[in-house]
Amino acid sequence: MNSRPFLILLLSMWIAPFILAQQTPQSFADAELPSLLTIYKDLHSHPELSTKEQRSAEIVAKELRGAGCEVTENFGKYDNPSWKCYGVVGVMKNGTGPTVLVRAEMDSLPVQEQTGAPYGSKVTMTGVNGKEVPVMHACGHDIHMAALIGTARALARLKDRWHGTIIFIGQPAEEAVGGAHAMLNAGLYERFGRPDYALALHDDAEIEAGKIGIAEGYTQANVDSVDVTVKGIGGHGAYPHKIKDPIVLSAEIINAWQTIASRENNPLDPVVVTVGSIVGGTKHNIIPDEVKMQVTVRTYKPEVRERVLAAIDRIAKGCATAAGLPSDKMPEVNVLKKEAVNATYNNPELTKRVTTSLKGALGDNNVIHKDPVMGADDFSDFSLPDHSVPGCMFHVGAVDPAKVAESKKTGVPLPSLHSGKFLPLPEPTLRTSVVGMTSTVINLTKK
Ligand SMILES: [Zn+2]
Ligand SMILES: [Zn+2]
Repeated sequence: MNSRPFLILLLSMWIAPFILAQQTPQSFADAELPSLLTIYKDLHSHPELSTKEQRSAEIVAKELRGAGCEVTENFGKYDNPSWKCYGVVGVMKNGTGPTVLVRAEMDSLPVQEQTGAPYGSKVTMTGVNGKEVPVMHACGHDIHMAALIGTARALARLKDRWHGTIIFIGQPAEEAVGGAHAMLNAGLYERFGRPDYALALHDDAEIEAGKIGIAEGYTQANVDSVDVTVKGIGGHGAYPHKIKDPIVLSAEIINAWQTIASRENNPLDPVVVTVGSIVGGTKHNIIPDEVKMQVTVRTYKPEVRERVLAAIDRIAKGCATAAGLPSDKMPEVNVLKKEAVNATYNNPELTKRVTTSLKGALGDNNVIHKDPVMGADDFSDFSLPDHSVPGCMFHVGAVDPAKVAESKKTGVPLPSLHSGKFLPLPEPTLRTSVVGMTSTVINLTKK
């Protein structure tokens, strides 16, 4: 009897557990990095605008399927019925246990790429105004998609470490706002299960590649877009005593609105009121009948949000009354419900667990505090308005450490997210993303 095959079998049975024991998110990330970089660079050179993410969604779907997920494509329903939703849902099952949602955005921006990267975008698409616009992944959503795929591959190979269900989300239209809402609106949680935790990462244009920034509590703001029409009684610019000037009135309203943050609000509750657009009149010597303004309002707490929006309305009408306008000429203040975004709230208990996993995987010094901002992300939708699904988003450094040091020394700011010059340092950013997300999911679902 030839005993060699038997010996080899015995040997491999003996060795296998040791090989498996050595498999870690880090070793998988290293092994998968060349393939993930190819996917990332392909996505980077083929960006697609919000609501038009067909090609990106197909790639995410194909790769999630390849990693062993059950994939549903074109999932989601926009409020605008003429838009097709390219949402991707990939479900990876591994017995009974917690359900974790991991989200990556797929859309890019109408920005001209100026990075000089060999895989830079030369793409143009028809923008919302019907004009051809340059398109670029200037927010790093290409990194997020590649990291989602890397995380799915790693979790598929590390199934002995965790149990439960992972719901991978390829989300369209984050930049335009509405993609997360469209997926939830189509019954995401009813059909695929309500997650116990929702996770996301975002690349960061200030943090060194290799590090992750994170904070507990509110980290990004509620956004409300408000349209205001200030009415007046127009006439000749030379006869102001015969008219009611909506331009002077608008100027007073804008200044008075600034007292909402400075005089009406607890200084420890952040508030921003920015008038981003003001349009009125046609000519030097004509006083118009009305002025239109577009205002963005940023807050964290729901009660502050409500109070600030009420103050915008109250102050506009109060100023109009003071200007002597009749009650039928009061300003119209319209809060655009469909454009509203809820604040991102990093559930403190979950964030502590995520921070512990990240420190364990990347080292204590590579996990740093990231100050909250008044920007926004519709990832908050996955937590639901009452934050009843605990959520956490962390920020993966994407910048060459030498450039961060230089910027600190010279004071010259680094290219920000949405800049045509923003380009993540791909290898360490991707590696840190995959290691960070995989370790976190395993920690939340470990056996
Ligand atoms: Zn963005
Ligand atoms: Zn983004």
